[in-house]
Amino acid sequence: MSYYNIKNNNLKINSKKSIDKLIYMWYNIIAIKKKSKGEYKMYTVEDLRREYSEAAEIVRKCNLPVKSVGEITLGLSPKATRHMGITEKRLDDYTIILNQPYASVAKKEDRMNTIIHEILHTLPGCMNHGENWKYAASIVRKKTGIEIERTGYNAEYQKYREENHIYKYAVVCEKCGKKSFFQRMSDVVKYPQLYKCMCGGNLHLI
Ligand SMILES: [Zn+2]
Ligand SMILES: [Zn+2]
Repeated sequence: MSYYNIKNNNLKINSKKSIDKLIYMWYNIIAIKKKSKGEYKMYTVEDLRREYSEAAEIVRKCNLPVKSVGEITLGLSPKATRHMGITEKRLDDYTIILNQPYASVAKKEDRMNTIIHEILHTLPGCMNHGENWKYAASIVRKKTGIEIERTGYNAEYQKYREENHIYKYAVVCEKCGKKSFFQRMSDVVKYPQLYKCMCGGNLHLI
């Protein structure tokens, strides 16, 4: 199957199923590497409780109304998907679920980023990535220097995907050569001629 051939530079992924397979494969590659170095340990809910407390402390220092570990439900999802974490709200109860394969191979720094990302969803009016969530993320950035990723995708995986040309759409700048990758159809993918690169160059789809 062609999508397994990560050496193929023109690889383009076009179904959710094949993306999930790639992610699963990616986690396995990292897990095997870590296992060979004796660094691998399956991430547990206990680990999450500990790291949630640490992350909550960081958010609390930013004067944001964060819930303590006893006021929130924490869980892990065993399936390898693109989402590194997810927050669910039922009435006033919040549940944060981390992707276990991701959490088991990610660097602590990336995992903390994901946990803080999810904590920000538990703040009032922050369930989506709208203005409130962005404002909270900007407070965290100003106070701690931590740039919370908006996508909820893993930075390492993102890098892996870009290095291996695993993406659905790519737009390149004619002037500086900067490439931007997109997983979904968006206006810039549809009408690159209507947009400019930061450097002022014209964009086109590749
Ligand atoms: Zn989110
Ligand atoms: Zn440019």
